[in-house]
Parts: sequence; structure tokens; C-alpha cells
Amino acid sequence: MRGIVFDADHTLIDFNADAVNAYERLCARCGARADGTGFLAAAYRKWEEHGLHRVDTERVLRGFHEIYREYVADLFSLASQEEPALSGREGEYIGLLSEEGKPLGASLETVARLSERYPIFVATNGLSAMQRGRLRAFAPYVRELFISEELGCIKPDAAFFSAMIARTGIPAGELLMVGDSYASDIVGGRAAGMRTCLLGAAGGESGADMTISRIEELLERL
Ligand SMILES: [Mg+2]
Repeated sequence: MRGIVFDADHTLIDFNADAVNAYERLCARCGARADGTGFLAAAYRKWEEHGLHRVDTERVLRGFHEIYREYVADLFSLASQEEPALSGREGEYIGLLSEEGKPLGASLETVARLSERYPIFVATNGLSAMQRGRLRAFAPYVRELFISEELGCIKPDAAFFSAMIARTGIPAGELLMVGDSYASDIVGGRAAGMRTCLLGAAGGESGADMTISRIEELLERL
């Protein structure tokens, strides 16, 4: 193995903590009552309603970033029904979210140590400024960040993986794709000929070459 590609959300960084923190900071700023837990639940519900979890559909493969912006706007129109001060503030929320980036578990230490042995890359579906901001703590250890909005395609699209693999300069079979999403990280990585590692699987057949429950297990298994 000659390189490792990590997914970002729920693998390296804590989406739930970041969303709640950004939302609570926004509420504090505009004097709204902050219910971070309710906001997070609504965020997941709206994510599904907008079909963003269906990365295997043409609609999401082609329109992910547009749908993503519609989803955030919809989430805020819902939130502003209870807290009118939040109306139209989704752009501000996205800005605050880009300042977050809580490492998940021991991810930062693990990536730092692995970077002494392998080139490290990150592959993430999301908005460019937001993901670059949230991943800044990892920047010293990461050779290149591959963000779907910049590549113009998302995981698990073959176009995303082939563009990324070409830019790493490492043959696909020598790269390990590590992520928590079977549909994006494992399906996409396998189809591209990469080795795959599923994080957080509850045992059983994962379809990945390797399954881990905590990211630091990579330090012993690689
Ligand atoms: Mg993920």
C-alpha cells in the first residue's frame, strides 16, 4: 500500500458537533433560542427528504451541490417558523460551519502518525469553502484534499474516483479508501480498484476489504 484516502464527515470530523456548534453560535448572534438537538434532528430529516442520502441515483449524482443548497435553505425556513430571527440566515450558518471542524475521536493523532508512513489524501462530498475550513487542522498532514464541488462530481461516481486517483499519482490498487459510508466510500472505492476500509461497521459482511470500529485501529493493521 502506498497511500491512504480518508472520507471526512463521520470519519475524520464530527458532523453532529459541528452542525450543533455552528447553529448555536448563529442563534447567539441573532438572539434566537438555541435547540441544537432539535436542529440536528431536523437536519437529518431534511437530508433524507431531499434524497441526499441516495448517492446512487442520477438525480443526486448530477445535482448534489444544488440540492445541498436547497436543503440548507429548506432547513432554515423550517427553523425560522419557530425562531423568525433565523430567517434567511443559511448563508451565515454555512460560514459558521466552515469555522468548525471537530476531529472525531483519535482521528487527528491517527492521521498525523500515518502521515509519517504514507501520503494522506481526503475525499469528501460537500461545498468547497465549508470542507476546506472544517479540515484545516488536518492540513499539515494531508497532501491533497479532493472536494466534490471542486471536482464537479461526487463519490461514488467513477468520474470522482478516476480524477482523484490520477492526481494522487498512485495506482488505484495501492490506495486504501477509508470511510464510514458503504454507498459512497466502499462502493466507489471498490469500483475504482482501490482497497477499502469501512469504519464503524457493526460486524458481519461489510463488503470492504477491512472493517474497523475505531480509526486508530489502522495504526496496528497497516
Ligand atoms: Mg462520511
